[in-house]
Amino acid sequence: MSLFRDTEIVCPVCATQVDFKLVDSVNADRRPDLRQAILDGTFQQIDCPSCKSVFRLDPEFNYLDVGRGQWIAAQPVVGAADWKAHEDAARDLFALAYGERAEALAKEVGALLKPRLVFGWPALREKVLAAGNGLDDIAVEACKATAMRNSADLPISGDADLRLVDAKDDKLVFAWVNPADNTTGDMLALPRSLHDEIVADEDGDWYDFKSDFDGALYVDLNRVLVDQPA
Ligand SMILES: [Zn+2]
Repeated sequence: MSLFRDTEIVCPVCATQVDFKLVDSVNADRRPDLRQAILDGTFQQIDCPSCKSVFRLDPEFNYLDVGRGQWIAAQPVVGAADWKAHEDAARDLFALAYGERAEALAKEVGALLKPRLVFGWPALREKVLAAGNGLDDIAVEACKATAMRNSADLPISGDADLRLVDAKDDKLVFAWVNPADNTTGDMLALPRSLHDEIVADEDGDWYDFKSDFDGALYVDLNRVLVDQPA
């Protein structure tokens, strides 16, 4: 089931109170339109009736797509600084809903799901896009690591993340995306064959990289890049 609750949002531009249905959970199997809105970048967009400003709240909901094997805890961007605590909470939540602490029927569904944790819309869209194109998300992160290692002139800036933004023909398209406002900077493309090689690599060059994500819900390069308090 997809769940929403009625709330009032204050327009950040003109301070008008806007009635809004805030999402608690999305079931993409039953509501493919909501999945599409996530891909289109319009989900949970608020149009102020007074000043016509368009804005979007950070995501804070659970996303389920049994058909594509996805369960995602989507959290606001600010949580990424404290990803470990959020990962523990998401792991508990999944265990209760679909994992070892769930009832038998839910557990059967859970066996089909990869639990994940993301922060912000670009990261959520990336996971939805990857699964929709039959891509392995750990291999997608490995592709990004390759791109960052091989390109000396990439704008590795503190306020943008490299995100998969498109997959077409035999190319994976990545862009530097600012998670705070979803603006997109420089783009680059990698051959899909690189992804396929990484998936097929069982014990070669990619073994250590993949091992970093064993049992992880937060499958994101920032897992390796953002230190957590001990
Ligand atoms: Zn307004």
